[in-house]
Amino acid sequence: RPRTSEQLIRAEEPVLAHNYHPLPVVVARAEGSWVEDVEGNRYLDMLAGYSALNFGHRHPALVEAAHRQLDRLTLTSRAFHNDRLAEFAERLAELTGMDMVLPMNTGAEAVESGIKVARKWAYDVKGVPEGRATIVVAAENFHGRTTTIVGFSTDETARAGFGPFTPGFKVVPYNDLAALEAAVDDTTAAVLLEPIQGEAGVIVPDDGYLAGVRELTRRAGCLFVADEIQSGLGRTGRTLAVEHEGVVPDVLLLGKALGGGIVPVSAVVARREVLGVLRPGEHGSTFGGNPLAAAVGTAVVELLETGGFQRRAAELGVLLREGLTDLIGRGVTGFRARGLWAGVDVDPALGTGREISERLMREGVLVKDTHGSTIRLAPPLTITAEELRSALGALEKVLG
Ligand code: PLP
Repeated sequence: RPRTSEQLIRAEEPVLAHNYHPLPVVVARAEGSWVEDVEGNRYLDMLAGYSALNFGHRHPALVEAAHRQLDRLTLTSRAFHNDRLAEFAERLAELTGMDMVLPMNTGAEAVESGIKVARKWAYDVKGVPEGRATIVVAAENFHGRTTTIVGFSTDETARAGFGPFTPGFKVVPYNDLAALEAAVDDTTAAVLLEPIQGEAGVIVPDDGYLAGVRELTRRAGCLFVADEIQSGLGRTGRTLAVEHEGVVPDVLLLGKALGGGIVPVSAVVARREVLGVLRPGEHGSTFGGNPLAAAVGTAVVELLETGGFQRRAAELGVLLREGLTDLIGRGVTGFRARGLWAGVDVDPALGTGREISERLMREGVLVKDTHGSTIRLAPPLTITAEELRSALGALEKVLG
């Protein structure tokens, strides 16, 4: 007999690692911007898999591409070539204005791979003495959960109990060019940053910061690695968040939406002088670049090539901003937004981010707190103006 949501949640407790604290909703079906729980209750998805579902749930073009590929070939490993990988790499490079692609699976893997590539570049091209390369990162960063990555996190919950960590990282305050300048020296391989810090609460840096990072890294002769895993692929109203400042980094890290919410697909995308440093045997992944991932990833790139999703994010972003501005002083103390992406600070007197999220869930809207009293709004870019208004209405109601 099918189990109820409550039974399924209870069944997880003894057998699943407790590394998450999900909202008490058990999703069984989804389409577009909506999900449905085991009991058939419908919810507007205002999180979109942390931006992995930019094109909504089960976008027909993506599902079709996956089905077609499932019927032909799913995995070869990179021991052999597959007939889907060339097109994926060509079109992703073209979309991002880069030369070469290193396909991986998850975001954290793309970050790890970007770090390895930056270090190799520093030794082979820049001439940093072996073992001395450093990477400068920002405080409050979120780049994933591997030991190396949490090692340069400033979030104690993410770090504590998991050391010892990989050396070679320097942490500077985000949005502070002077601090960055002071940290960069002859041993610096790269500056690794999120163009907008997602997990930190959708922190949008001051105008000129990213352009300043670009200028500074160029002058210092080190790489600018932009982690666009959450900010990229349409979310902010452009294909890449760095485009808002007309900035072209040396290395882009992509993930999440690149797999269309169907399969994990990530990539390091860079200029040839950078990614060209890797030689056979130096890096790899059994699943990276598999034909199913490449087919879905190509279909994702095709959706982005139309520019339609970017346009929607920009247009509806205006509505989101207006709606949130309207709530300032009425339960909202502040917010940061770009495109269809916002970090909303709720008056702590009205509840924690978690409590607000639970109240919104009861109103049929799914969001997730980041920390403290901040919630993040990141709906699928397929959301309609009316749906967005209803989500803002639900927020107004739970804050009222
Ligand atoms: N980088 C950024 C900016 C992210 O937001 C995330 C995930 O939230 C990651 C990396 C890690 O991605 P994954 O969870 O796929 O490893």
